Amino acid sequence: MDEEEQIHMKFSTKAIHVGQKPNLEQGGTGDVMPPLYLSSTYAQKEVGKPIKDRAYSRTKNPTRDALQECLAALENAKYGLAYASGLAATTNVLYLLKQGDHLVAFDDLYGGTKRLFNQVMTNYGLSFSYVDARDSKNVEKAIRPNTKMIWVESPTNPLMKTCDIKAISEIAKKRNILLVVDNTFMTPYYQRPLELGADIVLHSTTKYLNGHSDLIGGALMLSDNKLFEKLEFFQNAAGAVPSPFDCWLVLRGLKTLAIRMEKHSENAQKVAKFLEKHSKVDKVYYPGLSGVLSFEIKGDINSAKKFLENLEIFTLAESLGGVKSLIEHPALMTHDSVPKKEREAIGIKDTLIRVSIGIEDVEDLIEDLEKSLSLV
Ligand code: PLP
Repeated sequence: MDEEEQIHMKFSTKAIHVGQKPNLEQGGTGDVMPPLYLSSTYAQKEVGKPIKDRAYSRTKNPTRDALQECLAALENAKYGLAYASGLAATTNVLYLLKQGDHLVAFDDLYGGTKRLFNQVMTNYGLSFSYVDARDSKNVEKAIRPNTKMIWVESPTNPLMKTCDIKAISEIAKKRNILLVVDNTFMTPYYQRPLELGADIVLHSTTKYLNGHSDLIGGALMLSDNKLFEKLEFFQNAAGAVPSPFDCWLVLRGLKTLAIRMEKHSENAQKVAKFLEKHSKVDKVYYPGLSGVLSFEIKGDINSAKKFLENLEIFTLAESLGGVKSLIEHPALMTHDSVPKKEREAIGIKDTLIRVSIGIEDVEDLIEDLEKSLSLV
């Protein structure tokens, strides 16, 4: 699909068409939906001259190419790169840094991202500072002469804090610092950070982009040629690529992203309103859009556990962004790798509960919450 055609397409048209044009050329099979190419390697007619530069599937695979093209189009980026997990995508971005470099990050990040920063990457000479990026001035103040990257989620996981991506990108640009935005919660349907000045957008495709809680994957989208050259090299050199089948599944999931996001968001809005009025709920964190919200239950950690273990429709499980509603306890589950003192300093209490609202009928979801809250 040429760029001219893509520019005029709206979101869902891109999700269904980009990278997925039926092959009607001589020898093509005309598949209406993108085929799944499982082969790990490709035959060469002439020595050292693979067809379409495809020599080995870690380096290039037609199903992954289709996904990458489509992902790029959805973020209005020039390039997309797919990975075996969101954290593999994160690791690949960190390969852009070298010993002695410093990174400034939002203090409220997915626990696994913080674990990778603090417990793995510090062994390679990188250092990290965490700030409350809701105020962009805190980001600016944390910058040191060796700061090479700023890393934010907006909204954050799990406290749903938001930051001004545009203002932070201006701070970063003035100093030649790269801005990376983890856009997993909002998806390109609701937020496109590259248009706000970010250099790289990251996704855990495990979440909304795939949307069916049946694979682990990650992605990067960006438009800078030089950055892309480096990241494409790392993708092959470090090898954390997704399987063709996982790429195929994400491509399938993307086709319904827009309608799923509308429904997640509509349901979450209603659940947030219900929780806000409930006498057993202290505080609700929901900035709107997205399907993720968090709330503090009244009482203590045992009240939270009792509530979580009595739900019937909500599944007590880590992760988010799928059609099925999930619920979890950040302090004991997704963020247990963040030390308790640090968790408390940023506001992750033992009574905090994170909910990923699915696309079920919202009346059933509210009834389930109501019943379980009444047992606490
Ligand atoms: N970023 C965010 C915001 C996440 O919530 C997660 C996982 O929960 C990740 C990144 C990591 O992605 P993955 O689990 O696919 O490695």
